[in-house]
Amino acid sequence: MLGKGILKGMGETARNFFGSYASEDRLVTVQYPEQRLPQIEAMRNFPFLVFDGTDPVQGLRCVACQICEKECPPKCIYIVKDSAKKPDYIGKLQFQPKVFDIDISVCMSCQICVEVCPFDAIKMNVEYELSSSDRFGSLLLNKQDLTRPNSYFHKIHPSEAAEVDGRLQAEKEKVQAKARLEAEAKAKAAAAPKPTPAPAPLTPASAPA
Ligand code: SF4
Ligand code: SF4
Repeated sequence: MLGKGILKGMGETARNFFGSYASEDRLVTVQYPEQRLPQIEAMRNFPFLVFDGTDPVQGLRCVACQICEKECPPKCIYIVKDSAKKPDYIGKLQFQPKVFDIDISVCMSCQICVEVCPFDAIKMNVEYELSSSDRFGSLLLNKQDLTRPNSYFHKIHPSEAAEVDGRLQAEKEKVQAKARLEAEAKAKAAAAPKPTPAPAPLTPASAPA
């Protein structure tokens, strides 16, 4: 029947409207900002940069590969690579961003930057009270504004953060095991007895007369 969906939707609205006088479960809105709905884990707003440990510079996971900058549809990420390198979570020397800006007045929260990052360095934040009349002072976020510790990532997206930690730890153990095997093989080769060199063949000059 034509309009069946509209009637069904209006019926649900009416049920909630009249039902809200009898049951609080039918109250589908809250009196914001005095009341707030609990945040769900899948919520996302704008990206942030994750760092491990306590030092936001040394622990920053981003290696300034600029993949997110290239893939961002509205081009609201701006990165400048620092020439100085620092070790990553497995001890490998990597580049780092000197500048990492995101213009959140342009960002459309699509999460593509998160999907393409090979280093789990950028994740979606849940902060939403960001309105401001200062367009450039408040909505153009720089590296310092964007960095958050891994503990924050665990607080807002516990399942995803635990999965990432497990994956990074497994990779670290794999690299450490490989390095151990290589070191053992080197030590074994160094300790092995050297073959005695064969005596040099006699030349006419050195041969006894
Ligand atoms: S969420 Fe989308 S629009 Fe926003 S910075 Fe990431 S890729 Fe760009
Ligand atoms: S956030 Fe990820 S994809 Fe973007 S530059 Fe850093 S490491 Fe590369």
